[in-house]
Amino acid sequence: MEHPSISNKHKLSLVEGSKPAIDYTQTKTAEDIHRQLPYTLQTSLILEDMLQLFQHEVNAVFPECSFHYQNPSMKVDINSAEKSHHRCHYKLEMNGDYLGDLSFTQSKKFSQADIIFLEDLLSLLVYPLRNCLLYKKALASALLDDLTSLGNRAAYEKSLHREIDRAKRHNIPLSLVLIDIDNFKIINDNFGHMTGDRALKILADMINQNLRGSDLAFRFGGEEFVLLLTDTSIHDAQVAAERIRESVAQILSHDGTNSFGFTISLGVAQLDMNEEGYHLFERADMALYEAKHMGKNITVCAKKP
Ligand code: GH3
Ligand code: MG
Ligand code: MG
Repeated sequence: MEHPSISNKHKLSLVEGSKPAIDYTQTKTAEDIHRQLPYTLQTSLILEDMLQLFQHEVNAVFPECSFHYQNPSMKVDINSAEKSHHRCHYKLEMNGDYLGDLSFTQSKKFSQADIIFLEDLLSLLVYPLRNCLLYKKALASALLDDLTSLGNRAAYEKSLHREIDRAKRHNIPLSLVLIDIDNFKIINDNFGHMTGDRALKILADMINQNLRGSDLAFRFGGEEFVLLLTDTSIHDAQVAAERIRESVAQILSHDGTNSFGFTISLGVAQLDMNEEGYHLFERADMALYEAKHMGKNITVCAKKP
């Protein structure tokens, strides 16, 4: 998409009889903003920061204008909009790719000249916006496990620190569940690696089906998964763990030629307010080890530290 070749100065004078609602020459001129905006917006690839810069520039001309940006597929909803009567709404696209919905809101009516100016700024926003969205997608995919689409180990490490901070700050329980497929090597050996991969996907589905929206699930590595259950005591975590264990044990899956089933063992631990993340994990790991030792297909709760 080409940037509009027409300058703001010309654009503003295009609308005959329509006085701009705001004096564009107050601080920065409209031309200044038009000229500087592409450089300003290039200074950050972080979507939230870039949009804040955009709003700052818009506010240089429309001090009371707020905006609401939404992109549901990227789970982004940035709302600085006051409850005002007057709103201009845009669906932003580039070469057929959806970039989000953006609304400007203010208490004064937008004049035709205002709208032309805002649309000019929007035309300068689309490239940086697309770059920020691509960057956000790349960051998100670096934290995803390709096979199961659950978070990967790096995502787990990030989330663990965040959730522990939150649990300690608000004094709310946090539980960790460690899951390991029983005799996974035998599934691979008997039915092949593809069937092993299928089992991993089935387990990821079972986990997703049995967790609340606020719970977090990760593939820690190989055939080991870890769950972070927010605001959950060890008793409730054990109930959730058993629900997953039972639903996995009931599955008999077909891989085209063979039907196969498998079981899982689980270790559960609740965060002690004085312990660090690695220690919480270690206690869940010891509980899992005990579950394996007790004959597998079982959930064991960790002792208090
Ligand atoms: P246990 O019941 O004691 O947990 O025994 P196990 O056989 O499940 O555990 P072990 O650690 O002996 O074997 C794990 C196997 O998981 C070995 C490895 O080849 C396999 N594995 C690791 N990652 C993947 C993967 O991504 N896909 C498949 N198909 N197999 C994997
Ligand atoms: Mg293992
Ligand atoms: Mg195993």
